Amino acid sequence: MGLNALLQNSFRCIYNHSIIVFIINRYKSLLSFNQIPERETLFFWNCLISQHARHGQNLEALNYFYRLVTETHLRPDAFTFPAALKSCKLPTHVRKIHNWVLKLGYLSNFHVSTSLLHAYFKLGSMGDACKVFDGMPVRDLASWNAMVAGFAQNSCASEALSVFEEMQRRGVVADAVTVTSLLPVCAPLGIFSLVLALHAAVIKYGFDGDLLTSNSLIDAYAKAGFVSDAREMFDRMPERDLVSWNCLLSGYEQSGYPLIAFELFFQMKGSGVQPDGITLVSMASAASQIGKARIGRLVHGFSLRRGLDSDRIFVGNAVIYMYAKLNDMVNARSVFEQMPRRDLISWNTLIAGYAQNGSAGWAISAFQELQEHEEMMVMGQGTIVAVLPAYAQVGSLRQGRRIHGLTVRSGLQSDIFVSTCLVDLYAKCGRLKEAQLLFWEEPRMSVIPWNSILAGYGIHGQGAKAIGLFERMEELGVEPDKVTFVSLLSACSHAGLVEEGQRLFQFMETKYGIVPTVKHYACLVDLLGRAGNLDAAHACIQGMPVKPDASVWGALLGGCRIHGDVNLGERVFKILSQIEPENIGYYVLLSNMYAKVGNWRGVDEIRSLVKSRGLKKTPGWASMELGSEVHIFFTGSFSHPLSIEIYEELNSLHGKMKALGYVPDFGFVLQDVEEDEKEHILFSHSERLAIAFGLINLPPGTSVSVFKNLRVCGDCHTVTRFISLITRREIIVRDAVRFHRFKDGVCSCGDYW
Ligand code: ZN
Ligand code: ZN
Repeated sequence: MGLNALLQNSFRCIYNHSIIVFIINRYKSLLSFNQIPERETLFFWNCLISQHARHGQNLEALNYFYRLVTETHLRPDAFTFPAALKSCKLPTHVRKIHNWVLKLGYLSNFHVSTSLLHAYFKLGSMGDACKVFDGMPVRDLASWNAMVAGFAQNSCASEALSVFEEMQRRGVVADAVTVTSLLPVCAPLGIFSLVLALHAAVIKYGFDGDLLTSNSLIDAYAKAGFVSDAREMFDRMPERDLVSWNCLLSGYEQSGYPLIAFELFFQMKGSGVQPDGITLVSMASAASQIGKARIGRLVHGFSLRRGLDSDRIFVGNAVIYMYAKLNDMVNARSVFEQMPRRDLISWNTLIAGYAQNGSAGWAISAFQELQEHEEMMVMGQGTIVAVLPAYAQVGSLRQGRRIHGLTVRSGLQSDIFVSTCLVDLYAKCGRLKEAQLLFWEEPRMSVIPWNSILAGYGIHGQGAKAIGLFERMEELGVEPDKVTFVSLLSACSHAGLVEEGQRLFQFMETKYGIVPTVKHYACLVDLLGRAGNLDAAHACIQGMPVKPDASVWGALLGGCRIHGDVNLGERVFKILSQIEPENIGYYVLLSNMYAKVGNWRGVDEIRSLVKSRGLKKTPGWASMELGSEVHIFFTGSFSHPLSIEIYEELNSLHGKMKALGYVPDFGFVLQDVEEDEKEHILFSHSERLAIAFGLINLPPGTSVSVFKNLRVCGDCHTVTRFISLITRREIIVRDAVRFHRFKDGVCSCGDYW
């Protein structure tokens, strides 16, 4: 058969589009396009346009459409328009075709008008779509569905709902497509009754056996927080697919039932359905909620076995996030390293993970790595929000300011999360004034920045100012939340404002209906305990409607230590060593108390208990920023290049302090060592190394700022008071809880920390 005959034959066979295009392409090399005899038929043009559209050759498809209307006497028909509309990537393209539709009177053709609606919605031109819809002389169910789905897909939930209501008013009976389009908007609109109404419609019209509809219903019930209804739906389904399982799994996980999600996961595997990336993301989130390392590794194993790390970055990102939440940054890093491809979210998750786990140094070096190796990735809000807390932790004001500059240049400063992190940074770097200025510059209608500045006042011991600001916040009509009261109560606690704190605690529930959580109780116990009302603090714990956790008892133990109540301290310690036997902090506190009253037998007992339980102290470190560098010092370490000078400086200060009456307080040393050795251990506490480094390197008369990862120990506190007296310098130490500003031998905390 000759080429010409073959072509003619194919034209007659409507299904042979691809053969036609193949032949046309061959033909083109033999003849010029204009010589093809069949170009005089509309069918030929329709084939050309739809074939190019189907293969994603959008510009070619549109080009043929324009040639058809301008170069030939032919006119497009109901097949031409939908094919051409599929290729439109800009609203202006759609509008041009729209004009032809109007000109040729095709708006009354359902196929054409619905294609127009889809094309406009796909490009987000809701106004144009409405014009088409309003201009339609008649509408069928498909056009109504196109409107509902179009609005729903563009996140215009209430518009989608009003189209549906209009449909009902006009007596148009919905079908499965209407319902599945509408269900995803129920959760964002918070209309649970709509889910029920749609479910009723599904049953009434008899498409409850439809898999897609059932899955949409499960998803809608789960997202609205009604997991048991989702479960009921799921259990009644005659057949289920991966989507059904995924909807239910994520429903349980999102509603705070991670264990049930796991149970379901194993049932799913048992029934032969294999998990996909979406399943694994839900399971990673469930594992981080359960908080067990073993379960985390299980999820990691599944994701490796399914080989999903390689092609789906989002699964790898979820596993990194999971490990970060499980405080396992070693595994988080190894997943990160194993990922064949990473995106900015992978980096942000890693950086934020380090910062949240107190490994600020690692967070900063990961951030530097990102800047060095991935120039192509544009840092956005996510990266800045991830790294700023790390700079705040080590007190790196200079680097923090650099990031601040970046945010101003990129216009991110007005982002509420970025500006809140900046307020936090300045407050934690000891620049409360700057934090305040920044706070008043930025939008403040949300509670988040208020919480941050209130916490800032707290760590600076300015409780009264925090209360004043809270009153301002109320005047401005900003609704406080749980976190606001945690910040306020701890601010009262640091400043010894007992009555105000108690009043706020009452007020929180009576005025704002916020039921106190364990965190609020811990703050209240801390407040009472610090102020010496140990009985009231104890009574408060006993009257708690929720079970007190280690933080609450720990706060009471802290109070006992400050006020030397060994009896109560011993009782509280017993409880704590059952709740958190591995937390060495409590052993140290009790040992300090014994040492203070000269009960050396008690000190020995605690020491052997620590030994027998194999407990290790959290390594203490302190940091100091000098020039553009942050120097980090570890307790007892000689690793710093200036170590010899630092120890010499400390030695000379030590001699002067002893002359002034300083006696080392060995109650703060837990190791079973000789007196000399104890003195050396105290002597090399990280904050002292950092202070000495500052004294050597900073010009006389300037203040020295040091940041410590743990609480300052009592002996270091005494020593720093002496140093500030001897050197006539202001020394600022920010520990894990608050700022201490030492001057002329006195600390701003009033030895009350
Ligand atoms: Zn110390
Ligand atoms: Zn202090």
